[in-house]
Amino acid sequence: MKIAVVGSGYVGLVAAVCFAEMGHDVICVDNDERKVKALQGGDSLIHEEYLPELLNRYRNTKVLFMTDLAEATRESEVIFIAVGTPQSDTGDADLSYVEAVACEIARSLTSYKVLVEKSTVPVYTNEWIRRAIERNGVARSMFDVVSNPEFLREGTAVADFLHPDRIVVGADSERATKLLQEIYAPLTEGSYYRRPDAITGSCSAEALPPLLITSTKSAEIIKHASNAFLALKISFINAVSNLCEAADADVEQVAMGMGLDSRIGPRFLRPGIGYGGSCFPKDVAAFRSVAGQLGVDLGILAEVEKINAQQKKRFLSKVRAALWTLRGKHLAVLGLAFKGGTDDIRASPAIDLIGMLIGEGCSITAYDPAAIERAREKMPPSACLKYVDDPYVAAKDADALLILTDWSEFGSLELKRLYKTMRYPIVIDGRNLYEPKVMLDKGFTYVSIGRPTLH
Ligand code: NAD
Repeated sequence: MKIAVVGSGYVGLVAAVCFAEMGHDVICVDNDERKVKALQGGDSLIHEEYLPELLNRYRNTKVLFMTDLAEATRESEVIFIAVGTPQSDTGDADLSYVEAVACEIARSLTSYKVLVEKSTVPVYTNEWIRRAIERNGVARSMFDVVSNPEFLREGTAVADFLHPDRIVVGADSERATKLLQEIYAPLTEGSYYRRPDAITGSCSAEALPPLLITSTKSAEIIKHASNAFLALKISFINAVSNLCEAADADVEQVAMGMGLDSRIGPRFLRPGIGYGGSCFPKDVAAFRSVAGQLGVDLGILAEVEKINAQQKKRFLSKVRAALWTLRGKHLAVLGLAFKGGTDDIRASPAIDLIGMLIGEGCSITAYDPAAIERAREKMPPSACLKYVDDPYVAAKDADALLILTDWSEFGSLELKRLYKTMRYPIVIDGRNLYEPKVMLDKGFTYVSIGRPTLH
């Protein structure tokens, strides 16, 4: 099928190359010329496993990159909107990019099209898009608007897209539903996984993802409710980790005991320095806001946000408690991205903490395997902030080492080498990547989240 994807960021670009991998012809549109040029030249611009391979396999053949939305509209039957929906000052999702795209599509619409909300949007966005298109003189029979929320995770985006737990299609028209079912058939019927060159491997018949058909409004709510629930799970275990600290218990044991209950499950029960990224903070705020506008108080989410903000402050207190005074202290920081596996630093708790620590008078040498370039743009190097490309160089002569992102490589440092490199062997781990007993045996003062500090 001929598909257009508008927006070539973390979601749009991954969707575009994955649709090509599923056999479709794709036009990927972005209004950022620099991005389009880079993508045409094969530079994927973001750090995602399998993305460079897929981009090279399909760029300028099955995936065309361009800035011309009018042409993409004319050439495609289904248009996925994957532009940003950032948080506005009021907490609502800023839908101005979505509106601009909808109006532009309307102006070049000459035959039936399905517009698909791939961006995360609040309930009722579907109706607003419909109205915006009709206001631009397009007859109702010429288009449908469908909600097809995206659940991929940065860092494993390609594998998540091609092996989703479920595909949700919120559609109020049979014609549009059929087109979406056709697009996803290679995944739901398994033909993609049977291909010998399938990039993310095969999949058993039992594991084929279900395609859930709902109303458009339900689909919009499914996405917000899912992200809010995951954020809630993280804040819940963080709150429990605080109790464990007060009671001298071990939150890792508690999380393990809880997670073995199949009704609860182990995922997202990892205590840390709070959630971040471009989705959870804004989606929790937007969900609460839209609920409020509809007269429903989702006050539980205010608590989720409060715990999340406190978690960073609690970590700062741990650094203070380990080092006594902070002014003039030199810290090594491992991790800038909001989580391991990505270069995304949007709303990263690591970035917030670095700002707080510099504010307290610390100087910092930071390392991240993928996010340094983006961090450098946001927080340029200065007398109190240096970026280096090796964790041991970061640790050199440090008063303490802070682990702020759960990159797997941070969990397998050469501890002997680290011990010798640092000024004082103090590790404050915001991601619980080490066993306290192992760190004690290696001579470190090791502070983590929700676990007793051994002496
Ligand atoms: P992004 O900022 O990485 O990408 C958005 C892209 O849209 C940018 O390249 C921008 O230049 C382009 N754009 C903006 N206005 C445009 C216009 N008028 N015409 C053409 N292109 C335009 O954002 P993202 O992380 O890909 O997120 C996109 C949406 O998907 C958001 O609603 C987000 O909440 C949702 N989402 C994100 C993730 C994730 O992990 N990043 C996961 C699921 C859903």
